[in-house]
Amino acid sequence: MYDYVVVGSGFFGAVFAQQARENGKSVIVLEKRDHIGGNCYSYNYEDTEINIHAYGTHIFHTNNKPLWDYINRFTEFNRYQHRVLTTHKDQVYSMPINLGTVNSFYGVNLKPKEVEDFLASKRGDISNPSNLEEKAISLIGKDLYEAFIKGYTMKQWGCDPTKLPASIITRLPVRNSYHDSYFNDIYQGIPLEGYTPIFTRMLEGIPVELGIDFFEDQSYWRDQCREKVVYTGPIDRYFDYQFGSLNWRSVRFEMDHVPLEDYQGTSVMNYADAEIPYTRIHEPKHLHLEKTHKPSETVIIREYSQVDNDAPYYPVNFEEDKTMLKQYQDLQLQEKNMIFGGRLAQYKYYDMHQVIASALTAAKQELGVS
Ligand SMILES: Cc1cc2nc3c(=O)[nH]c(=O)nc-3n(C[C@H](O)[C@H](O)[C@H](O)COP(=O)(O)OP(=O)(O)OC[C@H]3O[C@@H](n4cnc5c(N)ncnc54)[C@H](O)[C@@H]3O)c2cc1C
Repeated sequence: MYDYVVVGSGFFGAVFAQQARENGKSVIVLEKRDHIGGNCYSYNYEDTEINIHAYGTHIFHTNNKPLWDYINRFTEFNRYQHRVLTTHKDQVYSMPINLGTVNSFYGVNLKPKEVEDFLASKRGDISNPSNLEEKAISLIGKDLYEAFIKGYTMKQWGCDPTKLPASIITRLPVRNSYHDSYFNDIYQGIPLEGYTPIFTRMLEGIPVELGIDFFEDQSYWRDQCREKVVYTGPIDRYFDYQFGSLNWRSVRFEMDHVPLEDYQGTSVMNYADAEIPYTRIHEPKHLHLEKTHKPSETVIIREYSQVDNDAPYYPVNFEEDKTMLKQYQDLQLQEKNMIFGGRLAQYKYYDMHQVIASALTAAKQELGVS
């Protein structure tokens, strides 16, 4: 018997389990995949030292000092600062759209105070946008929309942006400066040995059952539990999809081992044009400038977007999803001896620091620790 049975070994499950053990509780973690770490799992590619983030490039960033101190108990970070570039018609621009992007795109030399008026002159007169395309044009104008948003959005959603609701975007930030750091957070970096060792250390001394799906023998696992089950899997699956399946946008990766020292000169290159079938190319070597890699090889990963509810990455959150989620949340409230947490159980896009913060809060409330 255990005090807690934790379903899922991603950040929510691992942090909760770590906190429970640290506070004298017994706990077991069940994981249906063959590895720990959830979507943050990373590994070294074959016999190279190149660390691959199996479910897409993950950059750790936060402004929360206690949380930064907490995660630093389990790893050291390098000083990587994320910058994103995008290729449009064979030219490379900096993202998110900033003064450098606007100046190179239009071939002008605007100063920060001139950007707002310049963009206002490019915006359409659309007072009541009825779809994503109209909304984007009303925010940044047709030229920038067609160059940087339209093709990328078509690839991400697999449909024309005029078919998507305006509500998907509330703002498209344009920076009036040359600042091109993707995140503004004080603390940022990549774990020196990748993400998996963080989970190994968090779960030290805790039994972990890999390849076990909680639903295959739910009653057995509930019998093993004295206090609560902590569930971090999909909320609709927990309730047997009785109101339907929530929509997720998904991604698929294609990896290549390339005999080059450096393929693209950066960790992530976006591809804005619809004619290029992938949305991004990742080159993980660039996440670890502190490492000496072999000069003769690199690994690149092409990322393709797709809609696939069986491989959930980003909650779609259409109106129908919001209604369905509310129905599931009402059922959740009636579940006794359960804690639901993390991106799948809450149907919420969480960055890593947010999911860790939410697991620490849940553990504090549950375990009564300060
Ligand atoms: C492409 C992509 C890039 C991202 N990049 C960043 C980034 O740069 N920076 C950042 O901060 N965040 C990033 N994130 C977000 C980050 O991945 C999440 O915040 C984090 O993984 C959420 O952890 P979790 O524990 O909620 O879920 P998960 O990591 O999904 O863990 C849930 C675990 O539960 C297991 N499970 C589910 N059902 C069952 C069951 N029935 N029985 C047993 N086990 C089960 C699953 O197999 C999984 O391992 C990114 C996300 C994506 C999709």
